[in-house]
Amino acid sequence: MTQQLATRFPPGPRSIWRDEPDAHWNDWHWQQRERITRVDQLEKVIRLTDDERRAAVETDADFHMGITPYYASLMDPDDPHCPVRLQSVPTMGETIVAAADLDDPLAEERDMPVRGITHRYPDRVLFYVTHNCPVYCRHCTRKRKVADPSSAAARQQVEDGLDYIAAHPEVRDVVISGGDPLSLSDERLDHILERLRAIPHVEIFRLGTRNLVTLPQRITDDFVHMLRRHQPVYVNTHFNHPKECTAEAFEAARRLADAGCPLGNQMVLLKGVNDDPKVVTELNHKLLLMRIRPYYIYQCDLAKGISHFRTTVEAGRKIIRALRGHTSGLAVPHFVVDAPEGGGKIPVNPDYVVRHEGKKWVFRNFRGKEYTYFEP
Ligand code: SF4
Repeated sequence: MTQQLATRFPPGPRSIWRDEPDAHWNDWHWQQRERITRVDQLEKVIRLTDDERRAAVETDADFHMGITPYYASLMDPDDPHCPVRLQSVPTMGETIVAAADLDDPLAEERDMPVRGITHRYPDRVLFYVTHNCPVYCRHCTRKRKVADPSSAAARQQVEDGLDYIAAHPEVRDVVISGGDPLSLSDERLDHILERLRAIPHVEIFRLGTRNLVTLPQRITDDFVHMLRRHQPVYVNTHFNHPKECTAEAFEAARRLADAGCPLGNQMVLLKGVNDDPKVVTELNHKLLLMRIRPYYIYQCDLAKGISHFRTTVEAGRKIIRALRGHTSGLAVPHFVVDAPEGGGKIPVNPDYVVRHEGKKWVFRNFRGKEYTYFEP
């Protein structure tokens, strides 16, 4: 299937990278170096609204702006409602602290036996190896520490995390997260994966990364070659809108899938970005073409300053209702609320059970018709 190439330059007069050689554009180090971090750079790329201009300055102390040229090139320069722009350009909504907002909405710091490890579930841990990301997503649940260089995971912290995992035989699954672990060099990641692979009770690792979306150039041949040596390595990524499924993202996913990595997507339900069944259906169909299984849809959590992104739980159930039965089961993720205060992921499904009396169950199918099933 021929995929349309992502436009490298946004339409309009602000194509500031037009003369950049492909060798730069395709180099992830160059993309990292050239990130947009200031308002004067941003206004060369998009026509800023007054709200965005103010927010880019006023939110900087709390949560920096960082946008790779690649991700910025996907923005509509004239539409402040562009889904890529909403996820990466600050708005004044971030300065509003809602009553329900929490600094650490999932209580990840509370369940931290050593710095850099959250151990909440019996057989798996979250392992933070960096606090950097190519793009600082405005809806980030870890904005309390991501983008803050003073909180970056020090080498000793990573070593302490590895020691903790080695000392806990119940841990069979390690979710390597951050920030974005792919912000580390291949050598550094290789070292971490090698150490983990040498721990007999660790069966699988999962890399949680948004680089496929924000910096697909990061998925180089050398990188996937390195991953091959540590399989099984699962990769979970975070596409939120079909506009992010570019030719570059397809190529990054192909390399990972060809290297044997099972790929999953964790979408966050965001008002104005993807709270629409049609958008999610299109996204999930594109993900399956990329060999990425839609894995979770998260209800937007209670992180501080992101209430403008939240929508109702019912909006998520409506999306699942629109998917289930109407398209391949592979395209139907789990819709979950990651409960505040460390309650963990709670599935929230539409109701398909109409009633249940003794051995008789009455179900409703995706077309709304009722069917009765009798248990033995
Ligand atoms: S990539 Fe993930 S950790 Fe980094 S800013 Fe985005 S949501 Fe937060």
